Amino acid sequence: MDRQGSQQETGRAQRIVMKFGGTSMAGTERIRRVANIVRAQAAAGGGSAVAVVVSAMAGETDRLVNFCREANALYDPAEYDVVVASGEQVTSGLLALTLQSLGLKARSWLGWQLPVRTAAHHSKARIEAIDAPSLVEALEAGEIAVIPGFQGVSDDGRVTTMGRGGSDTSAVAIAAAVGADRCDIYTDVDGVYTTDPRIVAKARKLKAVTYEEMLELASVGAKVLQTRSVGLAMKAGVRVQVLSSFVGEDAVAADKLPGTMIVSDAEMDELVEKGLMERQLVTGIAHDKNEAKIILTRVPDKPGAVAHIFEPLADAGINVDMIIQNVGRDKGETDVTFTVPQADLARAQALLEDKRELIGFNRIITDSQIAKISVVGVGMKSHAGVAGTMFRALSDRGINVQAISTSEIKISVMIDEDETELAVRVLHTAYGLDAED
Ligand code: ADP
Ligand code: ASP
Ligand code: MG
Repeated sequence: MDRQGSQQETGRAQRIVMKFGGTSMAGTERIRRVANIVRAQAAAGGGSAVAVVVSAMAGETDRLVNFCREANALYDPAEYDVVVASGEQVTSGLLALTLQSLGLKARSWLGWQLPVRTAAHHSKARIEAIDAPSLVEALEAGEIAVIPGFQGVSDDGRVTTMGRGGSDTSAVAIAAAVGADRCDIYTDVDGVYTTDPRIVAKARKLKAVTYEEMLELASVGAKVLQTRSVGLAMKAGVRVQVLSSFVGEDAVAADKLPGTMIVSDAEMDELVEKGLMERQLVTGIAHDKNEAKIILTRVPDKPGAVAHIFEPLADAGINVDMIIQNVGRDKGETDVTFTVPQADLARAQALLEDKRELIGFNRIITDSQIAKISVVGVGMKSHAGVAGTMFRALSDRGINVQAISTSEIKISVMIDEDETELAVRVLHTAYGLDAED
């Protein structure tokens, strides 16, 4: 990605990218509050250059997605993008208008106007480059830039979108492109917690979390940041802070608000040394209800069999997550169980049916009523026993583990979807993460 900012220049005003999510933008009254926060930030530190990235109003993108489904169940992703990108066009214009009503200089920059260049993978496009010179010029001239998140433009000039939750990634990419001093992600919670605070009332807010842990937490379901935004921030060295837009009328600038800062390992070591953070074995717990389980029964237990299953799925861009191959069936046969995103289940099933003879399975069984619960923490690298605590705590509550997968800093289990909330609470307590009363 291009990095065209001028961070090295001396004496320039600080540059801040602010991103506001759907609940923050839900209606003109909320947008007015957002405008107050933006005004406070623009005035902070003797005047900051501010670019604001906005989401569609809460619920709007879901509504637009449903329209596409109703219009044509097998919709063309390019036209889907034209429809779903419109939610952000509305909020960016409304925020620019509201800022102007406060006497501030502001204008909107749509994805194709900046432009935010992406590959042509409609509905899940990746940002390739942001050509920022005119944006930087406007910022330097003291104009607030309002940019719709989630949308870009392909090389052939068509509108693209970046996958659900993609405005976080738009914001980080803009921050990298203009060499911003910070990218503040304003949402409806005041930071990153040890787990979703809507599930566990005793979840604790983290003052800081490392890029690596945040990346893992996001990838296993902590939707407070889109996974790609964290990966990009880590790669481009963007300073990201998560904080709440739900503040009073007298909005204060973000440097004074206690959110969660995403930090490097070295910064985390410093915070621990200063006694500002405690080192925990487990940093956070996340859940994901968006996967589905597929079981293929009586697959021949011989070399090449699993390749026949997973190659067509990979070719179709379907992400396979947890995999278990059971051994011990008679007659050289085995059952193979794995998970795919629920949204891809029908396609995966059709592809596998197509290859039934080649793979040689007997039955295909699917189940969407599953959830993945994951515990994440860099402390696991050097400590044993984290998995044991997990299995003991779950079994004590009668929760059955259907599959397990691990990485260096994460353990995930697949369980019945109905037990999601219970499992998250039980594990939160088991790892000593509950806030004191
Ligand atoms: P936005 O519309 O601002 O992008 P999202 O709904 O995408 O907001 O993300 C914020 C939500 O993420 C919170 O309301 C919260 O329920 C959820 N969440 C999940 N895990 C966590 C966590 N570990 N810390 C904070 N919030 C979390
Ligand atoms: N509006 C889009 C969505 O709901 C993008 C975003 O809010 O980040 O997924
Ligand atoms: Mg979001």
